[in-house]
Amino acid sequence: MAELRKDPILGDCVIVAPERAARPFDYGQHGAAASAICPFCKGNETATPEAVLTIPNDDSTDEWAVRVIPNRYPAVASSAPELSTADHFKRTPAVGYHDVIIESPLHEHATQSLPTAQIARVMRAWRERLAVVSSDDSIAHTMIFKNEGIAAGASLEHVHSQLLATSFTPPEIEAKLAAGKKHFDQTEKNAWSEMLARELADGSRIVAVTDQYILHCPFASRFPGQMCLYPTAPLPGFEATSDGDLTLLAKLLKTALKSLNDVFPNAPFNLGLHTAPPRDSRRSSYRWHLMITPRLTGIAGFEIGSGSWINVVPPEDAAARFRDTIR
Ligand SMILES: [Zn+2]
Repeated sequence: MAELRKDPILGDCVIVAPERAARPFDYGQHGAAASAICPFCKGNETATPEAVLTIPNDDSTDEWAVRVIPNRYPAVASSAPELSTADHFKRTPAVGYHDVIIESPLHEHATQSLPTAQIARVMRAWRERLAVVSSDDSIAHTMIFKNEGIAAGASLEHVHSQLLATSFTPPEIEAKLAAGKKHFDQTEKNAWSEMLARELADGSRIVAVTDQYILHCPFASRFPGQMCLYPTAPLPGFEATSDGDLTLLAKLLKTALKSLNDVFPNAPFNLGLHTAPPRDSRRSSYRWHLMITPRLTGIAGFEIGSGSWINVVPPEDAAARFRDTIR
């Protein structure tokens, strides 16, 4: 059973989930016979837990286009017995939700090769599951993420993303919420609105802009080629995105991932959807965003030891290369 351990000095939570060590690995092992063996392929639904949500194709109601299932090797569990909460070494059950979003009935490997309408259906599944798990009072934080490629942490090659909802807010999100609130208290302005206005005026790190969304390489990118996608409107939660905007967002995400693949062919990457925690009082000064982090370089001793980052590619150079592939 997964448990939460609080660092006795820092207070940060670590999820200890030994069951996840048993999860299968199939990258590059299926070849042409993939659809016969892969548990995520259409026809093999009995090899996975029952779906908690399916999104159908537009033209047929009985065939699923996106299928959401509980993770068979979860990092958190929906219920758990009490553990020792005694004194210094505090252990509590890691409760929450851990979904797998199967992004295609076909054995595709890459989100960027899915049609825009299919990426929009995936995002509909994200939105609907985020709304469901956020209504559970025990949930403090929700995140959608994706590991594409072995170096990004993927264990199954069939294109998929995951939802992890936890009873605690992770330190990175906590720091962003606190910074947004502090900025608003001091200036009565939204930190992200100000930052994006300056990015647009400068232009050197902008990759693409539409009426609804901005894609840029962050000024202090931690990884080479890191991109971030924001709504132009000051929206704290992704869950409020309309169907029409999901289609526009899907189009821009596909553009971003195709551009990433053009500049860094077959680059493994992580995608993280950071949406405001459902019950946090600082929500209104937050802005949801999609972070795309290519994994071209490893995380080494300095990063592991310090939590600080060394990036060998200036974000302005990365943005210029991405822009060139989109033109
Ligand atoms: Zn498959």
